Amino acid sequence: MVLDSLQIIAEQIRQCRRCRLYEQATKAVPGEGSPQARVVFVGEAPGYHEDQQGIPFCGAAGRLLEELLNSIKLKRSGVWIGNMVKHRPPGNRDPQPDELIACQLFLDRQIRVIDPEIIVTLGRFSMNKFLPGEYVSQVHGQARFVAFAGKRRIVIPMYHPAAALRNGKIMEEIKNDFQKISQFLDRSWEDQPQTPVREPEPSQLSLLS
Ligand code: URA
Repeated sequence: MVLDSLQIIAEQIRQCRRCRLYEQATKAVPGEGSPQARVVFVGEAPGYHEDQQGIPFCGAAGRLLEELLNSIKLKRSGVWIGNMVKHRPPGNRDPQPDELIACQLFLDRQIRVIDPEIIVTLGRFSMNKFLPGEYVSQVHGQARFVAFAGKRRIVIPMYHPAAALRNGKIMEEIKNDFQKISQFLDRSWEDQPQTPVREPEPSQLSLLS
């Protein structure tokens, strides 16, 4: 088997024509961070600034994400940050189900290469990839074990930072939820008995609409 790498995947994302989103995008936003990250953050889609720079979470929501990371003594360079779709949807509209499906293989490969212990989902689109049918308002901050890419991983669903910037109550919630990440980084959860868990089917993405 050819060894996959974040660089190879990023190049393929830049060339990608699997859906319409590339047509109006300025730059692809493959994701960035440490290939050895123990924690991966998955947002929704690039916005204006990300599209201009090719860097995920580099606008106002990104500044908040960095503050939240600093609050638990993590640096942006020590984690990995990416999105469900890698090109900006026009006008920042929601990604459509066919776009999410077309793009999912890239994130799946990125997660396989990084092999993180913890996946933090930011907003409903990434949450529903790992926890189909859930609502962020009901499950935010609640860590779950999910089998993904052949391994049991911790998924912690969180509100999207952009939602926190619009709503003070959500801001308090996301600050509290972030503290859970350090609890799990400190804990040797792999010593716990393995509970059987099922990988979400790609077809469950249809629940997103
Ligand atoms: N919002 C996202 O979901 N992703 C980004 O990269 C920026 C803003």
